[in-house]
Amino acid sequence: HQSKLPNVGTTIFTVMSALAKEHNAINLSQGFPNYPSSQKLNDLVSNAMNNGYNQYAPMAGNLDLRLAISNKYQLLYKSTYHPEKDITVTAGATQAIYTIISAFVRHGDEVIIFKPAYDCYQPAIEVNGGKTIPIQLSAPNYKVDWEGVASKISSKTKMIVINTPHNPSGTIWTKHDMLQLQKLTKDTNIIVLSDEVYEHIIFDGEHHQSVCLFDDLKQRSFITASFGKTFHNTGWKIGYCCAPEYLMKEFRKVHQFNVFSVNHPAQKGIADYMQDAETYLGLNDFFQQKRDLFLNLISESRFKFQPSQGTYFQVLDYSEITDEHDVDFAKRLTKKFKIASIPLSVFNENGKDDKVLRFCFAKTNETLVKAADVLKLI
Ligand code: PMP
Ligand code: GLN
Repeated sequence: HQSKLPNVGTTIFTVMSALAKEHNAINLSQGFPNYPSSQKLNDLVSNAMNNGYNQYAPMAGNLDLRLAISNKYQLLYKSTYHPEKDITVTAGATQAIYTIISAFVRHGDEVIIFKPAYDCYQPAIEVNGGKTIPIQLSAPNYKVDWEGVASKISSKTKMIVINTPHNPSGTIWTKHDMLQLQKLTKDTNIIVLSDEVYEHIIFDGEHHQSVCLFDDLKQRSFITASFGKTFHNTGWKIGYCCAPEYLMKEFRKVHQFNVFSVNHPAQKGIADYMQDAETYLGLNDFFQQKRDLFLNLISESRFKFQPSQGTYFQVLDYSEITDEHDVDFAKRLTKKFKIASIPLSVFNENGKDDKVLRFCFAKTNETLVKAADVLKLI
């Protein structure tokens, strides 16, 4: 058989986590916490199991959870998403992204993505017959040249995928960026897929620029989010997407035959947990302390950095240490120094190597101190 994805290998997250395990290294590569998810939330899920939430959830998701999500958008953005029509619960953001793309992208359609790009976008576009139009951004600021973006938009552009706060760079888009995107897509049929899985992890008093804050953008956009990121339980694989009804209708046509519905007790537990908005509003401070701890500890090292503005990732520039390719250096760092990270070149167009690695700081302070003790000496 001819492969549908001839250029796709195994995702870097699997590769680096396996290497970390093999070499008994501190795993700051794949993004997941190494501390427990909240006991209260665990208890609420277990209550849901003991109270009969053990059969199929409604296709679009448990209604209490969709109500909680809808309330969150009112509270944070004064934006209305109707719980029954505009919100669907998914098996993590990954499934939402795949399903959004497969519901809209036809053979030959062009989809613009910004690189470095999270690695699930491009294969989903291509397996559905679409053509990826990459726009490469550069370290260390990853700023968008909006005139450059305008030159890539054509009658073939079906979708633009955006992601703020941004994985892997830890940068955020400003209101100016969002207004530029709104201007460029106005009076077109372009759909925007806005990956906002890190919306609650943003630092230094900055505000998350959700597409739902911009009326015209909101009308053409899907937002996708992930409870794994918000509630420290990436293994539960619960997320959601929201969009205006005319888009969500098409999404559900695919979703119902893709997974039908997702884990019911976890949905009910999360719905009950979200009744207290502090459960997600406290995340900025929680992760900013971890970022600051990590950066203070390595401030005297030979790694250079701009502090992450959002996400739980910090990019470090190692060009003062070696001119090795970033994949080679990441592997050596894992095997010899017992710290695993993610090389950014794998997310870039043609493997562009800026000599930077991504480190996940969603770890206990003890782990961050241990890792910094090693990084300081390299
Ligand atoms: N988008 C981005 C930018 C991510 O970092 C991740 C990883 N959490 C996802 C999507 C996928 O999220 P999930 O684990 O909920 O599938
Ligand atoms: N989102 C996580 C990261 O960026 C990884 C998720 C995965 O392994 N697919 O590290």
